[in-house]
Amino acid sequence: MTDNYQQSNEWAQQHRQSLTTRHTHEGVLTDREFEPLPEACSLLPEPRDLQARFVCLAAGRLGLRACEIAHFRADWIDWDRMLLCIPQHKPCECGYCRRQAS
Ligand SMILES: [Zn+2]
Repeated sequence: MTDNYQQSNEWAQQHRQSLTTRHTHEGVLTDREFEPLPEACSLLPEPRDLQARFVCLAAGRLGLRACEIAHFRADWIDWDRMLLCIPQHKPCECGYCRRQAS
């Protein structure tokens, strides 16, 4: 009886969590919502306009994560194959990486 009650309770908790958990894909902007963002970047002074536009496009269209954008290097781009090759792991001592690791 106790085992059945405990299993039932666990199932109820998991079910409740699945109903209340917000998934990342639920926060994705539609094309219509995204469209004005890169344009709005041009309102910023140089060089922030280009930097903001890059962040918008890298995150919003290429799907890069914040850490990938923060560490982005031009040599990650394979222009011959038109590919973006992001290294799986590189040791880093920057403040962002230290905060994420702790
Ligand atoms: Zn880092």
